[in-house]
Amino acid sequence: MLNIVLFGPPGSGKGTQSEKLIDKYGLTHFSTGDMLRAEQAANTELGLQAKKIMDRGELVSDEIIIGMIRNKIKGQSDAKGFIFDGFPRTVAQAEALDSVLKDLGIKIDLMLGLEVEKDELIDRLLKRGKDQGRTDDNLETIENRINVYECQTLPLTGYYDAQNKYRGVDGLGGIDDIFGRLCGIIESL
Ligand code: AMP
Repeated sequence: MLNIVLFGPPGSGKGTQSEKLIDKYGLTHFSTGDMLRAEQAANTELGLQAKKIMDRGELVSDEIIIGMIRNKIKGQSDAKGFIFDGFPRTVAQAEALDSVLKDLGIKIDLMLGLEVEKDELIDRLLKRGKDQGRTDDNLETIENRINVYECQTLPLTGYYDAQNKYRGVDGLGGIDDIFGRLCGIIESL
């Protein structure tokens, strides 16, 4: 089994690279952002609550996120492997993930971090806002999301580095070049 956390700031290319990794390695995808957007589309109570928080660029509570992931992972132990995209985003989420996986007798093998500088992230997200109409891809929310990432999410690299699982990857360049860098690390495991 190959279990990966794909890490990086908003706009670093996690969604794009996840799709390619899923194709190549047959992984099961867990994107908490996609799950929350699906809740919104279905007009659930959780979706309505989450929308307000997402539109401000803040984090949905650990309790909600952990509950959601726990439900989705259950019954998936025959998967070839998992790729977590946009999760965990706090140390509490990473600890909860370790505990859920431990119950299934599996663990995270690797955290791959896409490294992209702030100006480039803002350009990419403003473009995505125009192309895809995501309501949280506007300048004010983007700046808040990057801030939240730096304060609350970036410390997670230390959590995985302490277990020798963190590998940073240059997230600039062509999609296939970046994918090649990610695969190089996976195959060196
Ligand atoms: P994303 O699509 O991963 O950029 O997530 C969009 C928004 O959903 C974030 O700005 C958060 O408000 C919320 N969100 C997604 N994943 C998480 C998470 N793991 N923890 C807390 N909030 C999350």
